[in-house]
Amino acid sequence: MTHYRDLSTSCMVEEGPHVRAVGWLNPRFPFETGDVPPEFLSKLQEQCASPFQPLTLRGKHDCELKLDPSANCKATGYKNLWIPSANNCLYVAPEMIVHYIEVHRYQPPEEFVHAVLAAPNQKSPLYWQMMELFGYSEPIIYGMPLSEYDSLSERDKQLRAQASRRTPEWEKANPIEAAIYRGMERVELGNYFEATQELEIAIATKTNDQQLLFIFANACQKCGRFQEAINVSSDLIARNQEYPGTVTRGKDALLVRALSFQGLQDYPNAIADFAIVVERDESCVAAYVGLSECCEAIGRNSEAAAYREHARRAELG
Ligand SMILES: [Zn+2]
Repeated sequence: MTHYRDLSTSCMVEEGPHVRAVGWLNPRFPFETGDVPPEFLSKLQEQCASPFQPLTLRGKHDCELKLDPSANCKATGYKNLWIPSANNCLYVAPEMIVHYIEVHRYQPPEEFVHAVLAAPNQKSPLYWQMMELFGYSEPIIYGMPLSEYDSLSERDKQLRAQASRRTPEWEKANPIEAAIYRGMERVELGNYFEATQELEIAIATKTNDQQLLFIFANACQKCGRFQEAINVSSDLIARNQEYPGTVTRGKDALLVRALSFQGLQDYPNAIADFAIVVERDESCVAAYVGLSECCEAIGRNSEAAAYREHARRAELG
């Protein structure tokens, strides 16, 4: 790591008269060692849990200090800490500072210890208030402050992202992505035919997006576009021969194809696919049900009964 003297006013990610660099250690420069208050160390660890990162990644920092004369330390980190202080200084340290203290007994300057002990939680309202002095404000994510956005559920975050992207201008500029969003919405609503109409625009160009192809095939099967479901799932199956490496898509595509063959009353092909599915996943109820229905349709009644029993047991799981 590039060395910056403790309390100097510049470091790799920040500079200015208010800046105090701390913990930018390099083996070629000696550093203070000694004990630190345990409450300081735990507060510092807390600060490192999810620190504000104003810059995109600047590469990782490797610890270049030696544990003993023969061995280099292997520790590494990539985040940095911005800690505002009431003395109008902004302390900037690599997250590796925790490691330097714990493993290499680094003793940071006294004023940094005080700043950390007094610091507000990262990304808290007080944090942003103090950071304002240094030209930073709370980031706005999809039209809401970061702290509010962070408290949303994952699902709400996704919806927020979609809603904010899907302005009419955005849809116009991104017709394919817009069609995918509309298609996925239709899938969620169970409007499979409408979903396939939206998605088929997208799959024509996104031929390598297997997730999308699978969703399309599944929707086709569900709305009776069986031949298309068979074509697309066959393509996916061909691309996912390996087992168990690509188990989900390979297996799920097989199930979609089996159900589609069944829909076309092509029972031998349906049975062949269902059989591979249950061979790979003994708990797949849908495949046992399919097997029993197909066997029954072609008069293989005792097999049908056996598969029904399998289905029942798989369901009890
Ligand atoms: Zn180290």
